[in-house]
Amino acid sequence: MSFFTNTIEQIKRAAGIMDLDATTQAVLSNPKRIIEFNFPVKMDDGGVRIFTGFRVQHNDLAGPYKGGIRYHQDVDMEEVKALATLMTLKCSVVAIPLGGGKGGVIVNPKELSKNELERLTRKYTEYMTPFIGPKVDVPAPDVNTDPQIMAWIVDEYSKLRQQNVLGVVTGKPLAVGGSEGRGEATAQGGIYVAEEFFKAQNVTPKGMRVVVQGFGNAGYHVASFLNEMGFLLIAASDSKGGIYCEKGIHPAKALACKTEKGSIQECYVSDIHYEPAQGSVCEKISNEALLETDCDILVLAALENQVTEKNAHKIKARYILELANGPITPSADEILEKRGITVIPDILANAGGVTVSYFELVQNEMNYYWTAQEIQERLKPIMQRATHTVMAVAKKFNCSLRMGAFISALSRLDSMLKSRGI
Ligand code: NAD
Repeated sequence: MSFFTNTIEQIKRAAGIMDLDATTQAVLSNPKRIIEFNFPVKMDDGGVRIFTGFRVQHNDLAGPYKGGIRYHQDVDMEEVKALATLMTLKCSVVAIPLGGGKGGVIVNPKELSKNELERLTRKYTEYMTPFIGPKVDVPAPDVNTDPQIMAWIVDEYSKLRQQNVLGVVTGKPLAVGGSEGRGEATAQGGIYVAEEFFKAQNVTPKGMRVVVQGFGNAGYHVASFLNEMGFLLIAASDSKGGIYCEKGIHPAKALACKTEKGSIQECYVSDIHYEPAQGSVCEKISNEALLETDCDILVLAALENQVTEKNAHKIKARYILELANGPITPSADEILEKRGITVIPDILANAGGVTVSYFELVQNEMNYYWTAQEIQERLKPIMQRATHTVMAVAKKFNCSLRMGAFISALSRLDSMLKSRGI
């Protein structure tokens, strides 16, 4: 089953539990607009390559379409449709006035030079220009796209529109209208959610072992926050493999080593230990083994479809925090639920990213900027409120937190649709 089919399956399940109106279910199961481009890019060797890019505008009932752009060799339309659908639901879970969209380009950006990456980004922007803008559709970073890429998009879009349009994308560098706190927003939001959830479960950090799949933007920051709170990071991975250190990994040291050596796995003999564990050893582990590591909390911060019916019965964590979008398939979800493993679902757990993106858009439109503290003060109550709503809905319908989050999102969208009409 494709990622999109899985996402629609989850909407169907939630619709069944809450008895959702059939029209609302049909509207939200079909993206409103799908755009595919084939665009030429001049390469450094003088040749030209044709790349394929996508933008899916799933739904804008609540406000402008909002969602990241992914650069990856495995991007396809089904994936982009799924991610766009999740964005609509995610914005609704945290009740921000934005809809859902997503974009992608089929490319392995690691094979391009910086100049090629810039030319590709500018060309993709040119092709997207008729369809995006602060009041229409606002892209942002996702896997393999970053603030620099967002700055090129702003620059190209502004040239084509012949005016400065900072709010055309979020996740920009601070110097180009970015927001304080955006870099770590996804992880920070996930921490606010986890804190509320663990408080309700009487779980305290002491002795809790954490494993992080995907030591990138979201994964590194969450490891770092959890470390500060007193949780112990014992394993982490990136696309090249994983590392396991029984006595603990110091996130900042691990990041410095990964940046230097190109992969976290190459750090197994380096000094990346958590302070009290001087002298302990680490070992390399495969990505498959990392997911099955004995731990208390597994953070999924890489890509979709990582936990499936093939490995769900081998997961040893008690709690899973989904910072990635769609990392657990619906059939794996059922297995985990039966095994009593609690999943804190993506559309709640990673919604801090889009919430601070919303703050960035608001600041760009006001042309007035908030401090890092003001961002935190605005983000925290939104994440806390959404967490309590999801926990209450899950309790009311006696269902998983994922279904609680879907029901909460779908009911808000249902009342918007009923008020506005189709
Ligand atoms: P990123 O590119 O910074 O990090 C992704 C990391 O995952 C990289 O370290 C990569 O090497 C690793 N990875 C890829 N495949 C892997 C595999 N099979 N096993 C282990 N590691 C693997 O991206 P990011 O922005 O941190 O996004 C990660 C996930 O979080 C994505 O699913 C994204 O959609 C989601 N997300 C990100 C944000 C955000 O604001 N960055 C917001 C919401 C959701």
